Amino acid sequence: MSEPLIELADVKHVFAARGAASGTTALENISFAVAPREFVALVGPSGCGKSTILNMISGLLRPSFGRIAYAGAPVDAINSRVGYMTQKDTLLPWRTTRDNIGIAFELASRRGRKRQGVNVAALISEQIKLVGLEGFENHFPAQLSGGMRKRVLLARTLIYEPETLLMDEPFGALDAQLKLVMQSELLRIWAATRNTVIFVTHDLGEAIALADRVLIFSGRPGRIKAVQEIDLPRPRDVFSIRFTPRYAELYENLWGLLQSEVGKSDNV
Ligand code: ADP
Repeated sequence: MSEPLIELADVKHVFAARGAASGTTALENISFAVAPREFVALVGPSGCGKSTILNMISGLLRPSFGRIAYAGAPVDAINSRVGYMTQKDTLLPWRTTRDNIGIAFELASRRGRKRQGVNVAALISEQIKLVGLEGFENHFPAQLSGGMRKRVLLARTLIYEPETLLMDEPFGALDAQLKLVMQSELLRIWAATRNTVIFVTHDLGEAIALADRVLIFSGRPGRIKAVQEIDLPRPRDVFSIRFTPRYAELYENLWGLLQSEVGKSDNV
């Protein structure tokens, strides 16, 4: 692997429980590295600490033990080189597509942190084009489909031009067909931006179709149970790839590992 961009070394996290002597050990013995521009998927039962890992890489949470480094430096404050997209729809209903995407710049300028020489309107237009929302610039969230709302959320994350995208089940709430469309869009956008991506999902098929590497986690406390390189050729068609023998083989192997974790954690 080239110099890693993200590195976790023997990370453990314990959430303190009010009034209890010992807290909840969410994860332990977590060590992995992510190369620049790599697409890594984290898969495991609910409650095995996947979101906790993203929170730690983004600098929102410090690990109880172990080290997390980003571009060779410890993550000890909010990591401004990552963009974070969660399953939650946080669009403001009274704002249009354009105004939802540009909100970060407005907040920054209100706090007196206006970036010099940035043409915000042009940047927003660029993102709208990248995520395929042309023609919907002046629509309000209620006038958009579920997939379009995801596109707005993605554009709002990408407008910071983050080096790394942290995605926490971003398409979890979508129906199966729309999910495929959004997966395909994500691969197209990833090919254009060449971001590093860490993608959390419950959906093993989604992980195999998208990622270069899949990390399978055990139930709580989460540990890395298996690491699988996904050697399917790119560019990938997320729909037809599911009918290839190699996809079926990868799915079967990983499904066996995942199934043995069912019931060991909160739920699946
Ligand atoms: P996942 O994303 O894999 O579903 P999480 O990272 O959200 O798992 O949570 C891991 C474990 O840590 C879960 O058992 C959860 O209940 C616990 N946990 C997460 N956040 C907190 C918190 N703020 N306080 C206490 N426990 C938490």
